[in-house]
Amino acid sequence: MARLWIKDDSGEWAVLPLVPSASFYPLSANPLRALNAAGTIDSAACETVLVSSDSPDDAGWNEGGWLLLSPSRSGVLVNGLPVSAGIRLLEDGDEIRVSGSGIFYFSAERAARPETFRPDSKEASSARCPRCLRTIRDGETVVRCPRCGVLHHHLLGEGYACWTYADGCAVCGGSTSLADEPEWSPDEF
Ligand SMILES: [Zn+2]
Ligand SMILES: [Zn+2]
Repeated sequence: MARLWIKDDSGEWAVLPLVPSASFYPLSANPLRALNAAGTIDSAACETVLVSSDSPDDAGWNEGGWLLLSPSRSGVLVNGLPVSAGIRLLEDGDEIRVSGSGIFYFSAERAARPETFRPDSKEASSARCPRCLRTIRDGETVVRCPRCGVLHHHLLGEGYACWTYADGCAVCGGSTSLADEPEWSPDEF
């Protein structure tokens, strides 16, 4: 799930999961309070907002993008540059500076979620689980590594759970937790 990192009054980073069904999040002079009350804009200070670029899927989530909407006179900077035309599709790691409100970091990190493998023509010939080195077949349950995108079996008939077999992805070492915990933080910059 995409997240927004916010530096709060104490100088500590706080993290806010961005829920697509919340529609939009104002980046106001009191970001934490305003963000926790996402969905209400009641002040001129909330002229800069984040909006989901896709409608939520059946589960209320999507993995689509987030748009930053900001009037050019607002003085908002993304990675040090003004928001041209007042709109920008945020990318992982973008730094958003809102004058009077502070610094935000956008994280597009995705959660590892079990899904049913339905090969497209491109993947059909090459989908091989990097843990057990066996071919992944149509209809098997898989987890796509959020970091490197490589598919792993999730549960095989014999009881193997290739994705959660180890703490790290067999290819990139990224966390194999199925809990939607942030792996990334602004401190890594
Ligand atoms: Zn496997
Ligand atoms: Zn990986």
